[in-house]
Amino acid sequence: MEVKKLLHMAGGIGESSYASNSKFQEKSILAIRPLLEEVHKSLLPKKMVVADLGCSSGPNAFLVLTEVMKIIGKQCQQLGVQPPEMQLFLSDLPGNDFNTLFRLLDDFEECMKAEKDASSVLHFVAGLPGSFYGRLFPSQSVHFFHSSNSLHWISQAPEGLDSKTEHVPLNRGNIYIGKTSSSHVVNLYQDQFKRDFTLFLNSRFNELVPGGQMVLAFLGRKEKDQNGPLNSVMEAISKLLNSMVLEGLVEEEKLDSFNMPLYAPSMEEAEAVINAQGLYEIVHIKMTEVNMDTIQGGENVAMSMQSVFGPVILGHFGAGIVDELFSRISKFAAEHLVKEESKVHFLAVCLKKKEQM
Ligand code: SAH
Repeated sequence: MEVKKLLHMAGGIGESSYASNSKFQEKSILAIRPLLEEVHKSLLPKKMVVADLGCSSGPNAFLVLTEVMKIIGKQCQQLGVQPPEMQLFLSDLPGNDFNTLFRLLDDFEECMKAEKDASSVLHFVAGLPGSFYGRLFPSQSVHFFHSSNSLHWISQAPEGLDSKTEHVPLNRGNIYIGKTSSSHVVNLYQDQFKRDFTLFLNSRFNELVPGGQMVLAFLGRKEKDQNGPLNSVMEAISKLLNSMVLEGLVEEEKLDSFNMPLYAPSMEEAEAVINAQGLYEIVHIKMTEVNMDTIQGGENVAMSMQSVFGPVILGHFGAGIVDELFSRISKFAAEHLVKEESKVHFLAVCLKKKEQM
């Protein structure tokens, strides 16, 4: 699967769209809100460029912009200085439903007028299509990057996963790192994450102004081994797909050649990449737990998963199986996930560009 060309969340504003199913992700954005507070104070620019990377097509993109503007508006009032003119970029892959996003712009502007802290901040919103695994902006032109719920999408499922030993596919029966995956599979995923995260950090380093910062939140895992919540969810989907293979609804070869382009690192793994580069001061790094309690009922869990994973699954397996698979996920979720206290781990990171020597 070519992630850069094909990946997107479910567009539009319908029942199974990302726009209608991103309440849970909103929690992680609010959880990292306090980290935004420090960013502006240390820079106080006259014109400020801010970018949200992996903005998708729902209200969360505007929630981020609202929070940033409120904080900056308030700080400027407290300091008695004129707020900066702000250029706000919403960036995502070209397949993102930018039309739906832009249609929400009017509502955002209306809300901003009513926000006492932010109403005086002159701002300009622009969309920017492109992958964050590479350069998106001219050098030293951005003051602040924000990215939530996006960096666990790696640039591709690791190459080599589709190899076979004596006709047995390397990650047989799994769509991610599962209980039966070998350590070789785990290494391939880890290496892909390292390469991608390094490229992300390098690209942003070039683009940030001196002293510029970024706040990132993405899926991580507390466990040292590969038994995190993402592994469990993917294991469950793998099991359902395997039963559909047995029933002749899905070709075995299709399942064996599918691996999710995702990776949820431990804090140590992410920290090691940041430190190996030495380009950033780590202002904050913490694994936070977000409870899935806002989502009630198996159907809602399934809907939320479909809005995120549906397009990727559809792209590989075709439209024929998507409804059946997600109806099975819904039943499974009602029986298992909803009863248990489902927690998801997010890695919250705040980085400051180091001065160049
Ligand atoms: N930030 C929003 C949306 C997260 S959904 C929120 O917190 O709710 C994850 C988004 O990351 C998707 O829209 C997906 O298209 C985007 N994404 C994944 N890989 C990307 C890449 N390489 N470059 C840019 N965006 C990417």
